[in-house]
Amino acid sequence: MYLFDTHTHFDVPEYDSKRDDYNHTAFTHGVRHVVLIGYLAKYFDRMRQVKCYADDHYSIKHHLACGLHPLYIKEHGDDDLYILDNYLNKYPNIAIGEIGLDTYPDELKSVDNYNKQCRFFIEQIGLSKRHDLPILLHIRKSHADTLKILKMQKYNAHNQGGIAHSFSGGENEALHFAKLGFKIGITGQITNPNAKKLRQAVKTVFDKIGISAFVIETDCPDMNPIPAQIGGNYFNEPKNLIYVLDELSVLFNMDKEILAYKLWQNSNDAFKTNFDYG
Ligand SMILES: [Zn+2]
Repeated sequence: MYLFDTHTHFDVPEYDSKRDDYNHTAFTHGVRHVVLIGYLAKYFDRMRQVKCYADDHYSIKHHLACGLHPLYIKEHGDDDLYILDNYLNKYPNIAIGEIGLDTYPDELKSVDNYNKQCRFFIEQIGLSKRHDLPILLHIRKSHADTLKILKMQKYNAHNQGGIAHSFSGGENEALHFAKLGFKIGITGQITNPNAKKLRQAVKTVFDKIGISAFVIETDCPDMNPIPAQIGGNYFNEPKNLIYVLDELSVLFNMDKEILAYKLWQNSNDAFKTNFDYG
């Protein structure tokens, strides 16, 4: 059984002393690919260093997905779009991420911040087209506007790929994104019995579209699945992807081996890659 962690921040320094161990444990739990996701341009080099180290030392394949995260909108300057463009020219990236809209914190609802988020989102969709890369969406409390921008920009995820990462919307929104060709990224949040809206959305998409709509992710170091929160531990790691798989296998009433294989194929679909299973 092999797993593809489609969204991690495994490059953050909190892992520096543990990354060797965590890679080893994740590998023994079946994890074969992890994607390092960008949020601020100043950390692209760090992501690349972790990826280069992994290429030489780990059996788990690491991929880069550089991008400018909407939550950090106040910190991005126009220069960062050039830096990103440069990075995409110079280094192999599997996608652009994470990009999108986030109006959860009050300060990001202000007209200035919100307009800037929209502008950076649109610019990065433009980059994704120029570089022919899928986009990895971060959307919080702004699903309708995100859909509007994707449609206005004529982004076609069926052709170009993409993931609505750590999905948090309702069932109608989930259906919209899935119909546009985005995979719905499921985190350890699905193991939380209180996440009723999420479970309902996931179940509805499964019933109406099928297993092809989903990929899994840890979003580590965040989103630690409930079964891994032993002793109040909220620090997540790639091996905990198994708990997301476990929960989905119960929710979909599907054999774990079959589910893992399908999710792997879906990851290839989302990234327009062709990695052999295992
Ligand atoms: Zn993330």
